[in-house]
Amino acid sequence: MKRAITGFHLDRFQEWVADLECGHGVTMKHNPPYQNCSWIGSAVKRKGHVGDVQECVACDMPVLPDKLHLAEISPLYNRDTMPEQFSLGYIVEGGLWAKLVVKKGLLQFLIHSDPAVGFVLDEYLYGVMAPSVVHEIKPAMGDVEFYLEFYQA
Ligand SMILES: [Zn+2]
Repeated sequence: MKRAITGFHLDRFQEWVADLECGHGVTMKHNPPYQNCSWIGSAVKRKGHVGDVQECVACDMPVLPDKLHLAEISPLYNRDTMPEQFSLGYIVEGGLWAKLVVKKGLLQFLIHSDPAVGFVLDEYLYGVMAPSVVHEIKPAMGDVEFYLEFYQA
């Protein structure tokens, strides 16, 4: 979803993050051709980019409904121990919602909604799985550790 930049701040890794109107943040790294922001180091130029529009991936994530309570937590999985079903097409059953939490590494997360939407999850962006929707969960690269929290009404 397109969101306007309202300001910038440095994160704990000393990298610039654009603050978006929705409350989410996007890391701004000059990394052509993926991201062109050679201006990010200049205070004057940053000011000129307030109001620019950025794609906010976090806004495309479903939101867990209020008033759910935690019913169950899965074991901690890695690329070798995760159930094969996760990468083939996984549905949370029993009307439960699930939160997909990455402890380490990167996870590809695809929601087969209409239209389908894909994310790369890390320890700062968790995935949300609505009941009865097909999801695919695949390690992106390298080591990954993640678990699921199941919620019920
Ligand atoms: Zn957002």
